[in-house]
Amino acid sequence: MAATARPECDADTIVIGGGIIGVAIAAALRDQSVLVLDSGAPRFGTSLTNAGHIVVSHATPFAAPGMVRMGFRSLAARDGSFALSPKIPLSGLSWLGKFMSKCNERNTAVLTPGLLSLLQISAQQVHQLGIPTTSTGMWEIFTSPRAREHALHQVEHMHQIGLSAHLIDKSEALESEPLLTPNAQAIVELSEDFGINPETLWYTLRDANPDATYINNVTVDSLTPFVDFVRVNVGTTTYSARKVVIAAGAWTPSVTKLVGVNLPIIAAKGYSITIPHMRTNIAHPMILADEKTAVDPMGSALRMSARFELTRASDRSISTKRITQMYQRAKRTLRLPEFPESIQSLSPWTGVRPASADGAPFIGPLAGMPNVLVASGHGMIGTAMAMGTADLIARYLRGERISEAELALTPNR
Ligand SMILES: Cc1cc2nc3c(=O)[nH]c(=O)nc-3n(C[C@H](O)[C@H](O)[C@H](O)COP(=O)(O)OP(=O)(O)OC[C@H]3O[C@@H](n4cnc5c(N)ncnc54)[C@H](O)[C@@H]3O)c2cc1C
Repeated sequence: MAATARPECDADTIVIGGGIIGVAIAAALRDQSVLVLDSGAPRFGTSLTNAGHIVVSHATPFAAPGMVRMGFRSLAARDGSFALSPKIPLSGLSWLGKFMSKCNERNTAVLTPGLLSLLQISAQQVHQLGIPTTSTGMWEIFTSPRAREHALHQVEHMHQIGLSAHLIDKSEALESEPLLTPNAQAIVELSEDFGINPETLWYTLRDANPDATYINNVTVDSLTPFVDFVRVNVGTTTYSARKVVIAAGAWTPSVTKLVGVNLPIIAAKGYSITIPHMRTNIAHPMILADEKTAVDPMGSALRMSARFELTRASDRSISTKRITQMYQRAKRTLRLPEFPESIQSLSPWTGVRPASADGAPFIGPLAGMPNVLVASGHGMIGTAMAMGTADLIARYLRGERISEAELALTPNR
C-alpha cells in the first residue's frame, strides 16, 4: 500500500452496493458521512422481493454435514431445490470443491456462534425499528414418511443451540391454519423466527440515515487502497474515502478482484412468486421443509420462494417450468388456487444469492488492507443477518471490540 497525501475525502466511508447489506451499513453509520454506490438500483439486486424470513433458527452454516448427500439427491431427482445451471462460470467448480470440503462438524462448530450472534442482533433490531412483522412464530412443516422423526430432530437441534422450538399438535395446526392440507404430518414452531416485507425493511433502513448519499447506476471498476484513504473509480469519476466496505452481493468477487483478492462467492439463483388476493390468509410464515420452499404472508397475498441454482450473477432468466414446479410442490401442503393461465399474475421474480463456499458471510477487513472491508456472502439469509452485519462492520470501523465468534467470520479465513 503506497503512502500518498490524503485528498479531501468525499465521505468517511464508501459502501459499494446498496442492497439490504449496504443500506443496513449506511443506517448503522449515522455518526459519519456515508456514500453508497450501486451499479444499478437496489431493486436490481436480490434484496427487495425475497421471502422476508427473519430466521434466527438458521444459525448453522449452509455447508453442514449431510448437505453433499442432500445436493446429490436433489440433482438426481431433478426436484429443483438444488441445481447447477449450464451458465455456471468455471469458478463454480472450485466453489463446489470448497463447499464439499466444508460440509463437516468442524465448520459448523467454528461458524455457528458468529452466525447466531448476527441473527439475534438483527432480529432484535428489526423489532426495535418498529416495522410490521408477522405476529406469530415460524412453522416448519414436514411431509415425508419420516416427518415426525425429522421434526423431533429439529426441535432437539434448536434446543442444543439455545433456541426455543416445539412440536405443534397436527389437528390444532390444521384448525388454526385452514390452508394446510393433511399432508402436513409434523409441524415445529420456531418461536424466535418471524416474517417481514423485505422491501419495507430496505426503505426503513434507507430512511434511518437521511444524511447518507446514494448514487445509482454507477459500477465501481477500480479500487486503490492507500495508507489512510481509498480511491474508488467509476469510469472517469473518482471518489475517495477513509474506508470502503464492499457489499456487492453476488458480484462481490468481481469487486474484491480489483484489489487482488479472490473470494469464494457464487451466485445462487432463486425464484419467488406472489399469489395475490388469497381467499384464506395464513398467519404463520412457513418453511415447507421437504419441498424446500419458503412461504410468507404479505397482507392478503402469499409469497413463495424456492430453488438454489448455481449460476452467473447476470443470470436473471425466469423459467415457467420452475415456477410451475414450485407451485405444484407447495400445493401438496397448502390449499392453493389452481395454477393461473398466465404466470405474470404471480409476479415471478428471480434473485441471485451471494453464496459463500463454507456457508457463512465474510465480514471484516481484508488481509493487509485495514481500510477495505467486506460484508458479503450471506447466501439464503442476507435479510435476516443484515442488521447484525451492519452492527459488526460499524464496530470494526470504530475500532471497538470484536468477539472470537465474530472474528471467525473474517474474509481471510
Ligand atoms: C428467492 C429468494 C428468497 C430469499 N429469501 C430470503 C429470506 O426469506 N430471508 C433472508 O434473510 N434472505 C433471503 N434471501 C437471500 C437474500 O435476498 C440475500 O442474502 C440478500 O438480498 C443479499 O443482499 P446483498 O445486499 O448482499 O446483495 P444485493 O441485494 O444483491 O445487493 C448487491 C448490490 O451491489 C450492487 N453492485 C454489484 N456490483 C457493483 C459494483 N461493481 N459497483 C457498484 N455496485 C455494485 C448491485 O447492483 C446490487 O444492488 C432470498 C434470496 C432469494 C433469491
